[in-house]
Amino acid sequence: MTIRNMSSLLSMALRSSKFGSLGRPFTNAIRSRAFGTAAAAEEPIVPPVQANLTQLLIDGQFVDSASGKTFPTLDPRTGQVIAHVSEGDAEDINRAVAAARKAFDKGPWPKMTAYERSQVLYRFADLIEKHNDELAALETWDNGKPYEQASQIEVPMLVRLMRYYAGWADKIHGLTVPADGSYHVQTLHEPIGVAGQIIPWNFPLLMYAWKVGPALACGNSIVLKTAEQTPLSALYVSNLLLEAGLPPGVLNVISGFGPTAGAALASHMDVDKIAFTGSTTTGQIVLELAAKSNLKSVTLELGGKSPFIICEDADIDEAVELAHFALFFNQGQCCCAGSRTFVHERVYDEFVEKSKARAAKRVVGDPFKKGVEQGPQIDVEQFEKVLRYIKSGIEHGATLEVGGERIGDKGYYIQPTIFTNVEEDMPIVTDEIFGPVQTILKFKDLDEVIHRANRTPYGLAAGVFTKNLDTANTLMRALRAGSIWINCFDVFDAAIPFGGYKMSGLGREKGVYSLSNYLQVKAVVTPLKNPAWL
Ligand code: ADP
Repeated sequence: MTIRNMSSLLSMALRSSKFGSLGRPFTNAIRSRAFGTAAAAEEPIVPPVQANLTQLLIDGQFVDSASGKTFPTLDPRTGQVIAHVSEGDAEDINRAVAAARKAFDKGPWPKMTAYERSQVLYRFADLIEKHNDELAALETWDNGKPYEQASQIEVPMLVRLMRYYAGWADKIHGLTVPADGSYHVQTLHEPIGVAGQIIPWNFPLLMYAWKVGPALACGNSIVLKTAEQTPLSALYVSNLLLEAGLPPGVLNVISGFGPTAGAALASHMDVDKIAFTGSTTTGQIVLELAAKSNLKSVTLELGGKSPFIICEDADIDEAVELAHFALFFNQGQCCCAGSRTFVHERVYDEFVEKSKARAAKRVVGDPFKKGVEQGPQIDVEQFEKVLRYIKSGIEHGATLEVGGERIGDKGYYIQPTIFTNVEEDMPIVTDEIFGPVQTILKFKDLDEVIHRANRTPYGLAAGVFTKNLDTANTLMRALRAGSIWINCFDVFDAAIPFGGYKMSGLGREKGVYSLSNYLQVKAVVTPLKNPAWL
């Protein structure tokens, strides 16, 4: 698979239907088994990896938490324990911040040449590539996402992101500024210091890469807190980073819970910056903790309820496949999921019929099994939350077109679900469900759909499906969201910035934009003493 393919999650969805080789196993499996056949009832496949790294990473060492406490991380296929992981708390955050501070203030990292730092990141990318399959297996085991997705798309994207930021490390520099008066003025772009990073469970490795890559490229040190549901892959991959030559203390990884370890990091007086990805509610807490402690700078990547607009001129078969992918990818657990599917009234009926057929054919089952498109939801809490939303949709009078039930009697599998006849104020339309539940809405004209698409506190992403250039130009400007995907969705190349309008976040990650999150700009002014040469 080429980098180009890897960079586009969309390519998987399209190839799986009719465009080529990668998707052949998907297509075969789709023909042979629909979701109703409770693959969850089969014995779970034994993951081809072991969960050996379970301690905290502080100052280059894997260590127990100060309290000695651990917590279980669970297999979403069964709810059974994979491993007991050290539980970091405020005291461990203190230890990790002290190590990161030392590495930044005294240690070699910010003082190494930028070229040397870039070489560490390149070696890291090579090691990830070498361990692609083990890492993908660990991610699938802890998270429940299809192994083919983890191994063919996500781990290669992690490699791509690390190489992208390795490339930036020795290309970061300031400017010479033509100021008025007899002064020489320059800007120094300096690392910001100790970066605190809090990541979620839906894409543990990619969220790691979006945060760790730019922070290290700019010369910062890091304390990263993983999500309590998925602590394993970050520990594994950070061990590779040490092997690649990262000095001790530059990256510290704390497993633990939000209100304890997460809050301690966000409010720490010796942390210079906090980057958070997660729910909007928690983002507000993090922002408040940052403001009330030391006013550390904050970037937030939060929730969404993204519109996916299918215009009357769209190729319906492609639109159905793309809208299906936009919502159901990763078990519907994407902050940017195209969860409000707006369809023009002239093509609505055909679209709904074909979407139902597509959802009914979605292959749900053990994520380690070849051809499986959808695994279990992450945990019992999310599983029950999604089922509650489905129940609320039915109770509010929406039409349940397909799905709506759990699959099997163990693990957290849910049928791909579609609602029509939804009203805009129903919770299934207003709230971020974070599960495999698509709502399909009908629209008449462009002005109306723009208004309705923007009628949400979120603004993370939007999809547009049209062949008309004028329509595309209008929608790309009118939609208030940080990413507009036209005739595609979920295209996540390392160079493309990502982030939200409104309550979907603050700032941008990925691409060149991410670097400014991790840099201070220092203006340096010197008088020019010999006016003859001005
Ligand atoms: P979700 O509800 O999807 O689990 P959260 O926003 O709660 O999303 O979690 C995302 C990340 O934020 C996780 O790493 C979690 O531990 C962390 N987190 C949760 N609560 C807090 C908090 N009060 N302070 C800091 N981090 C938190």
